[in-house]
Amino acid sequence: MTGFYIVLFFLFGLIFGSFYNVVGFRLPKDEEIVFEKSHCPKCKHTLQWYELIPVFSFLLQKGKCRYCHEKISLFYPFIELGTGLLFAVSFYSFGFHYDLILSLILVSLFMVILVSDLNFLIIPDSVLIFASVLILIVKFIFEGIKGGFFALGSGLLLFVIMYIIMLLGNLAFKKESLGGGDVKLMFISGLVLHPLVGIFSIFLASIIALPVSLVLLYTNKDHIMPFGPFIAIAILVLFYMKIDIYQILSLL
Ligand SMILES: [Zn+2]
Repeated sequence: MTGFYIVLFFLFGLIFGSFYNVVGFRLPKDEEIVFEKSHCPKCKHTLQWYELIPVFSFLLQKGKCRYCHEKISLFYPFIELGTGLLFAVSFYSFGFHYDLILSLILVSLFMVILVSDLNFLIIPDSVLIFASVLILIVKFIFEGIKGGFFALGSGLLLFVIMYIIMLLGNLAFKKESLGGGDVKLMFISGLVLHPLVGIFSIFLASIIALPVSLVLLYTNKDHIMPFGPFIAIAILVLFYMKIDIYQILSLL
């Protein structure tokens, strides 16, 4: 039965991933999300339902628009597949536990951030607020008043710490070092992780980002690299691993 649910979550993930493409591409441009029909970005042709099947439409059309033959970015099926896989991993990791809900929220947040931060260097506030509220509701329902307020306090603590790091970074580099979205993302880190594990997510994000930034240093003159996706993946990894504070301390 577990295998059945894993496949089911994978398929749900594909569908949700296709929605996160839409959210991540439209929110930063203040475009309508739900009622506006999907269309080809080049020829503006409205896409039919059979052109919107996650991953499969892309494969069937060999990655091209059926009307103008413009190449469709590999980014779209990548986000769909990634969401499908991570939804499946979430179910495999947590089963029917409330941590499953939290991890699905985190995966969703990560995917939207990936789309919007990589394409527009923006993490939309509305997405962060929506995710925070959902996480807090889950925390208050399943962990009670005490657990809910602990998560809230932990989120605020990490927000303040990251804010101070940003101010120091701005002073040191004489330019904007971290985006406001990155600071707000640490609030979410604190909501789902123990505050000390949450602090570790900053380090983990830097470790993951290091090889990528070295590559960018050679290929991209501007050296502009969104940090949001790295923080989000670090939070997700730590959440999956359920690392507790004693494991972190034993590493130091
Ligand atoms: Zn087209």
